[in-house]
Amino acid sequence: MKTSRRTFVKTAAGVVGAALARTRARAEGPAVTAGRSYDVAVIGAGVFGAWTAHHLRQSGRTVALVDAYGPATARASSGGHTRVIRMGYGDQEVYTRWSMRSLGLWKALFEKMGRPWLFHPAGVLWMARGEDPLTTTTLATLQRMGVPHERLGRSDLDRRWPQIDFGPTTWAIHEPESGLLFAYRAVQAVVEAATAAGVEYLQERVSPPPAGKGSLAAVTTASGRAVVAGTYVFACGPWLPKLFPDLLGERIFPTRQEVFYFGPAPGDPRFRPPAMPVWVDFAEEIYGLPDVEGRGFKASLDRHGPAFDPDTGERTVTPQTLATVREFVGRRFPALKDSPLVFSEVCQYENTSNGDFLIDRHPERDNIWLVGGGSGHGFKHGPALGEHVAARVLDGGKVDDRFSLATKAKVQKRAVY
Ligand SMILES: Cc1cc2nc3c(=O)[nH]c(=O)nc-3n(C[C@H](O)[C@H](O)[C@H](O)COP(=O)(O)OP(=O)(O)OC[C@H]3O[C@@H](n4cnc5c(N)ncnc54)[C@H](O)[C@@H]3O)c2cc1C
Repeated sequence: MKTSRRTFVKTAAGVVGAALARTRARAEGPAVTAGRSYDVAVIGAGVFGAWTAHHLRQSGRTVALVDAYGPATARASSGGHTRVIRMGYGDQEVYTRWSMRSLGLWKALFEKMGRPWLFHPAGVLWMARGEDPLTTTTLATLQRMGVPHERLGRSDLDRRWPQIDFGPTTWAIHEPESGLLFAYRAVQAVVEAATAAGVEYLQERVSPPPAGKGSLAAVTTASGRAVVAGTYVFACGPWLPKLFPDLLGERIFPTRQEVFYFGPAPGDPRFRPPAMPVWVDFAEEIYGLPDVEGRGFKASLDRHGPAFDPDTGERTVTPQTLATVREFVGRRFPALKDSPLVFSEVCQYENTSNGDFLIDRHPERDNIWLVGGGSGHGFKHGPALGEHVAARVLDGGKVDDRFSLATKAKVQKRAVY
């Protein structure tokens, strides 16, 4: 793999720092060079920061991308094996629009990188009961927006997926062209494309910006380097409350989320694509993904867990949550009743009060943007969100109320699923 050496760091005292950008964006120690000022520094190489940096570079800007642990690190919210990409969002049309836009951009990037398999069109099945408002409004939105989908009655479901015991499910929506993204590798591919296009990457922890008003001159890293840019985008996911405790300490709620992978019987094809789609049962706040790459059949609660620290939190699953998820899996997918747990992950959601993202300027520092609040559903939207942030940064346009800091309350009341 080709290594490109690029430099972009200086300390307040003068030019001393450097960074290496490699494909796969692994930083590799310092080298001294003349300092440089960037149009934009993006802090955080999760899915939001990576796509923002990529779009800014595509618009011709000079961009530095800084991450404390590495792109889609196991500690990041973007660090999981897989993430769902669905178009359905109830009546929250903006997210359906962003999902549609994002799927196209994900596919185009993966094609360009020679890795089309990073998206798997396994299909997404929304299990519903009666007049369940979320699924009913989703159906209307998908129809209105022209998203390919099927409305399936109970007999259709039993016939198409005999390995599922649909229980109280009376009908479902199937999105045949949606599916799953191989999450951490997808983000690494974005960073790889961005660095190949000239984004300069540094692996260092950025210190919280000092309190004060007016434009920020530079950010400083834990080792004392300064990164100088005209604009700073903080896309630090669940770390945002640590970086901006006064502003976001009570407005972003990182919660512990456990993910389980159960092993189907050897050779059993019923729980992997094409036989098994992604599925979601919002009535029981649970969703899952088919067995891909032999990691196991994934299932996880979409219920918010306890508060979690992304730096120090221990990432072992609890017997209680395992028992809850195993009970559902055994009931809904009877052949998996006694299947072993073969893999697990502990990740964190970074929830806003209602699930809408945060994309806004810092109220006292006009060249800082705060970007995050993915709230358990942000991954799929990385491409469209990055495009939106890049446009706001470049054209200075008005911030959408939905994404503004002002609409982020201190009490959680979830409205976006
Ligand atoms: C279990 C689980 C399942 C999910 N399922 C889905 C799904 O199916 N579909 C979906 O669309 N979404 C899903 N999500 C949500 C989605 O993954 C997140 O919303 C999204 O990944 C958030 O990305 P981010 O870039 O904002 O944050 P992150 O990915 O957390 O990235 C933040 C980055 O900032 C860096 N950073 C932090 N502080 C500093 C600092 N001081 N200096 C330098 N760097 C710093 C970190 O190292 C990190 O890399 C899920 C989330 C979880 C946890």
